[in-house]
Amino acid sequence: MLLSRTLCLLNRHRPVREEVEWTGLGHVGTCKTCKAPIRRLDAGGWRKRRAKKGLN
Ligand SMILES: [Zn+2]
Repeated sequence: MLLSRTLCLLNRHRPVREEVEWTGLGHVGTCKTCKAPIRRLDAGGWRKRRAKKGLN
């Protein structure tokens, strides 16, 4: 969807609900629009994760 893609470009993603995981530090998942690895912010909302394992 065009609007979703635009939000992704602004680093505002939406997770695939079934793939959201709790790591002990926070929730991580995959963006259902752009498939990027993302993490949940304390304040809510999802941002892209760094590629590094174990962090974020
Ligand atoms: Zn996205």
